[in-house]
Amino acid sequence: MKSSGALSVIELFDEGLHSGVNLALNVEKVLYREKTDLQDLMIFENSTFGRVMSLDGAVQTTEKDEFIYHEMFVHVPLLAHGNVRRVLIIGGGDGGAARQLMKYEDIAVTLVDIDRTVIELSKKYMPSISGGALDDPRLDLVIADGCRFVKETDQHWDVIIIDSTDPHGPGEVLYTAEFYGDCKSCLAPGGIITTQNGVPFVQESELRQSYDRLGALFADVTFYQAAIPSYVGGDMAFGWATDEKSHRSRSLAELAETYMNSGIETHYYTPEVHQAAFALPLHVQKILTREA
Ligand code: SAM
Repeated sequence: MKSSGALSVIELFDEGLHSGVNLALNVEKVLYREKTDLQDLMIFENSTFGRVMSLDGAVQTTEKDEFIYHEMFVHVPLLAHGNVRRVLIIGGGDGGAARQLMKYEDIAVTLVDIDRTVIELSKKYMPSISGGALDDPRLDLVIADGCRFVKETDQHWDVIIIDSTDPHGPGEVLYTAEFYGDCKSCLAPGGIITTQNGVPFVQESELRQSYDRLGALFADVTFYQAAIPSYVGGDMAFGWATDEKSHRSRSLAELAETYMNSGIETHYYTPEVHQAAFALPLHVQKILTREA
């Protein structure tokens, strides 16, 4: 049911995503709030993060720190692969990953998001995040459940970016072994899958579960990290899965040359940060090997 009536005045956005931990953000102004058929969507203004989008009470993206998340989500697989022409984004309705992908000239992007409202409101209230990418002729926009889409498609992609919400509500199916298996079926040879895999310090079981499920399917599975200021609990993890082990053994010089030749402009990503992001601290390694 869609919520009706005037936007209620909320002084504080309180994200209680993880037990015992809360992230509180001052709400200067609620710009939009709607319970779509699928998710509770809110967009509000915060003096530090700019405009903030939340879904079902969890921060999704903010104007001020989205560049870190979307640059690392996109440029690490693309520059490691070095010859990407087709990318599938599952989720990503805010358009941030799509905007980073459109920095590459010769690219075709399919974006599959279950909730059209997220896309429409991101364009309306947070246009800097998508930067027009959601209307770019190189992008094919599909409104569907990503889990069903990969099961039914006969297309293939070089990179699949699973830019999903956390494993609750409609996002839950995007962490299943079945979904990962279907993603593998539509991955081109040498392709790479990356996932939004939460914050290891407060989402240990999700990390381990993705590691096990992807590990059963791919030759090279690990995570790389970046600190997203609006995600509580420390560095977040991006899942990495591919059968092509050479992608992760590219030298810094090779990465730097690919980055320079790409001509893309970044504000967080550098080849050095790319390489360092895969150096997992011991406590995260121990989560994966169940020594934690
Ligand atoms: N950066 C965010 C994070 O770290 O959680 C993710 C951002 S993006 C807005 C998440 C998107 O996943 C939303 O647009 C949501 O509609 C979409 N989504 C959730 N479940 C989905 C599903 N089963 N199929 C396709 N899209 C889905």
